[in-house]
Amino acid sequence: MTAVQRLRGTADWLPQDLPRLRRAEQAGLAVARAFGYGEIATPVIEPTELFTRGVGDTTDIVTHQMYTFTDLGGRSVSLRPEGTAAVLRAFAESSLRQAPRPVRLAYAGPMFRHDRPGRGRFRQFHQLGVEAIGEADPELDAEVIAVAWDWLRRLGIEGTTLALNSIGDATCRPLFRAALLAHLAPHRDRLAPLDRERLGRNPLRLLDSKDASLRAILASGPQIAAFLCPACRDALARVEAGLRAYGIPYQVEPQLVRGLDYYVRTTFEVWHQSLEGAQNALLGGGRYDGLLATLGFPDAPGVGFAAGLERIALLTGMPPADGSGTVAVCSIGAAAVAAAIRLGTALRGRGLVVVADVGPRSARAKLRGADGQGAAVACLLGDDELRDATVTVRDLRAQRQERVAVADAPDRVAATLAAGAAAG
Ligand code: AMP
Repeated sequence: MTAVQRLRGTADWLPQDLPRLRRAEQAGLAVARAFGYGEIATPVIEPTELFTRGVGDTTDIVTHQMYTFTDLGGRSVSLRPEGTAAVLRAFAESSLRQAPRPVRLAYAGPMFRHDRPGRGRFRQFHQLGVEAIGEADPELDAEVIAVAWDWLRRLGIEGTTLALNSIGDATCRPLFRAALLAHLAPHRDRLAPLDRERLGRNPLRLLDSKDASLRAILASGPQIAAFLCPACRDALARVEAGLRAYGIPYQVEPQLVRGLDYYVRTTFEVWHQSLEGAQNALLGGGRYDGLLATLGFPDAPGVGFAAGLERIALLTGMPPADGSGTVAVCSIGAAAVAAAIRLGTALRGRGLVVVADVGPRSARAKLRGADGQGAAVACLLGDDELRDATVTVRDLRAQRQERVAVADAPDRVAATLAAGAAAG
């Protein structure tokens, strides 16, 4: 019989690696909290329409990458491919819609896209993001970028570039779109099939193509900056002024569009030099005024970003060990099992990490096992110890041991651990 294996593009996070992902997430939520963003959690499964409307039914995500199925009630549901649409839905459906604005929210959790798996690209991955809902001030755009930037600094990640652009609004973007289409039309036959399809449904998507020949064609074409209306130009200038006030370096990238339909004006990404090609974005975001109305709710402006936690964790080291060390509690002989379990409970009550070894193996085998588990201290309970209500406390690093009264054991174990930690 063949073994059941994990799905392609999904990952198991083992105990030795998961702390990196968790630390990245905790640091992000802590920085967001420091800016006043409260954490929100929404379901991983949503009505499909939330994404066809909210992400856009011409985007690659919706046309090619969604995990969509019909549930037992005959309703089309999808695993969420991103977080913003759901956070906005939750905002609009809850008491948050009456809260003082802007409403600042942060989230972290798994997302699902049936993408081609590769380095830094998974079918189930984790995003952390923030959304500031209810105000159109460009200074808020700078604020959400500052959350992202502070987070990366706090994790010690260097070598990042902040790319910033404005993709205009309903006033000026159609003019740019028309100019772009006119420029690309004569080159249509030279485009790759997928790009030709994009030209038909969402020509702006071609702007961030990595295809060298297409990039050359685009370089000689119209630039969005030349088409921005005065309101969009002013908004971009205010975002830039905000970033300067935060002390965040940036570069304006006229080709930066991003793959979701909902952006207006500000778009941004943070790139890292070590991540290659299309996978070099650590995070991306922008302003999405109008998205709530697209979902059928009263409209309110908003701005946010989403970051890939796997990509960020990849760039960080392991968090330092907490230094407390593990204690192995070993019974020697069946008579000592209950006493060993009670001692383990008492030690955990002191906040210590205790692994119990109350099986039938020999004392030698148990001590070898404790070493293998990385325990710093072993407590041994056999017939002798039972007789006089003592415990043998063995310092596994210094290879020393002593018998102490059961009542004194927790203090002695804690002192031995502390001495071991101090000795390094
Ligand atoms: P997006 O929601 O497409 O703007 O993506 C925001 C961030 O999520 C990206 O910059 C990546 O860091 C991360 N991301 C997006 N798709 C994937 C994926 N398939 N696997 C891992 N990370 C991803």
